[in-house]
Amino acid sequence: MGEEMVTPHHLPKSIATVCLSGSLLDKLEAAASAGFDGVEIFENDLLTFDGTPAEVRQQCEELGLAITLFQPFRDFEAMPEPQRRRNLDRAERKFDTMAALGTDLLLVCSNVQAAAINDPARASADLHEMAERAAQRGLRLCYEALAWGQHVNRWRQAWDIVRQADHPALGLCLDSFHTLALGDDLASLAGLVPAEKIFFLQLADAPKLSMDALSWSRHHRLFPGQGELPVARFLQDLLATGWSGTLSLEVFNDEFRAAPSRRIARDGLRSLTLLEDAVGLMPLPTLPKLSGIEFVEFALDRLTREELGGFLGGLGFHRAGLHRSKDVELWRNGTANLVLNAEPDSAASERFEQRGASVCAMAFRVDDPTRVVARAEALAYPVWRERIAEGERRIPAIRAPDGTLVYLVEDKAAGARPIWEDDFHLEPAQENPNAFNGIDHAAQALEPGMMDSFTLFYRALLGLESEALWELPDPFGLVRSRAMVSPDGSLRLPLNVSESTRTGTGSFVSALAGAGVHHICFAAPDAQAVLRKTYASQTPLLEIPENYYEDLAARFGLEDAELEALRHHHLLYDRDASGGVFQHAYTRQFRDRVFFEIAERADGYTGFGAANAAVRMAAQRRFRNRS
Ligand code: MG
Repeated sequence: MGEEMVTPHHLPKSIATVCLSGSLLDKLEAAASAGFDGVEIFENDLLTFDGTPAEVRQQCEELGLAITLFQPFRDFEAMPEPQRRRNLDRAERKFDTMAALGTDLLLVCSNVQAAAINDPARASADLHEMAERAAQRGLRLCYEALAWGQHVNRWRQAWDIVRQADHPALGLCLDSFHTLALGDDLASLAGLVPAEKIFFLQLADAPKLSMDALSWSRHHRLFPGQGELPVARFLQDLLATGWSGTLSLEVFNDEFRAAPSRRIARDGLRSLTLLEDAVGLMPLPTLPKLSGIEFVEFALDRLTREELGGFLGGLGFHRAGLHRSKDVELWRNGTANLVLNAEPDSAASERFEQRGASVCAMAFRVDDPTRVVARAEALAYPVWRERIAEGERRIPAIRAPDGTLVYLVEDKAAGARPIWEDDFHLEPAQENPNAFNGIDHAAQALEPGMMDSFTLFYRALLGLESEALWELPDPFGLVRSRAMVSPDGSLRLPLNVSESTRTGTGSFVSALAGAGVHHICFAAPDAQAVLRKTYASQTPLLEIPENYYEDLAARFGLEDAELEALRHHHLLYDRDASGGVFQHAYTRQFRDRVFFEIAERADGYTGFGAANAAVRMAAQRRFRNRS
């Protein structure tokens, strides 16, 4: 059988109201504004709504939303009498509600009651009777196996019951979470279940956690692409049956329910756009080839710029260029570029007025910026175009979820003229035997609740992969940290978030500069050589307590001379399982806002020295207390 050519197409998209925060009307507006075609009405959202189902129907019609499903109808099948009879009466009342809502599909999830009888034939007979009653009113049912169902928790069991019930108004509901959470898949679906018997599809991802399926499902679901479950594979197996229908998100997540509904709804739609790309339904412009961070830009005024320039001077940076038309300086050490922007009436000055000295933008090197912009537009990420003077280069930028600008610079290797030559009067390069080999990574502090939005942003836009989540102990609370890294390791962006406002990360976000880059690491070919110079300069390094080095000697069996060199330079040390070595030192914080790291990677080390983070954070706390 040959490959069938399929014209690219979008499938209709829907979202369950339970995914979003606010009142039912807020949820409907958020879903419509994000561009969804429909909503699943979650019963609780209707119960708490101060209006009739007919008003909900009217509201949805005005917003252009179909009601794709009403849910859930629980604990129905295979109950002893008199509960069985009562359940059928209960169903009739829900049919009334559905008629008023104007939806024809009800989700019936598998029974979790201890009293439920373990008899598939009984379950089939009950569902047949319920389907018959539904059909008389022009309604339909879809039966879903809950991962924690009393007797039915796998889709194959649910299918056996649906098949045996053999009623045209009864079909299957497939839910990626319930299937994948049990380690199950849809590989055997095609050939077993006819596409027309799959009445509904619910999509959710999740991080891999070891906990009971119920708690995992109720609190930690994520949109596809934000977690670790093979949701694309799941959808591919479903599409192999010839199924074509609505992609509907059903995500229970405590942070989503506390977040602005419009942001979450937009992320939901993006996750489905990304999924359509992953399964080949509707390809996005292809992912860029990344090659690191071209520059980090600071929003400053003249005073803080002079101060930061002095601080950077101690790290071997020099002023390498002046912008041709703006009050902007380029500072450089080797191939590490920092842009110090004090131009009034610019995106940077707006940032400075709101937050003081802080990072306002990062620039990534990509093979084709235009293609990334097209990808951003397809994913509804806002594109920013800065005003420019004649002859200057327009560098396209995308707004990250916290408003930070992400510039896209064409990689020089692809034959482009360096951006700096068009826009800056450059000074002659300085000889520096210990020059930095670019920016190793830039870490961002996020507002609580923003981790998943950022994960999706970097994954969907740039194809970065998320590394394992670390929980790092600050003296005053936990910092959760996850690095987003390009597949070839050329772009590394750790993301940090803390619920506590007293941690370094938390106080940066809540009291100082707001969310954004708070830590920039420079790649040093020889960290100790750099630090020999830095030590004599005006840029103070973060001092590391003696106990750390005692422990280091015990853990890694280092030679005395090596240990003494580390101690002398306030260097932290890590070694991974395959022998990769990381040596890194930190500056004290600049104005309590941003700090710099000098790091040397050797023998294929790919981490970030997470094992040393607690020591670093405690040392930073000591210096904050002192100043
Ligand atoms: Mg479900």
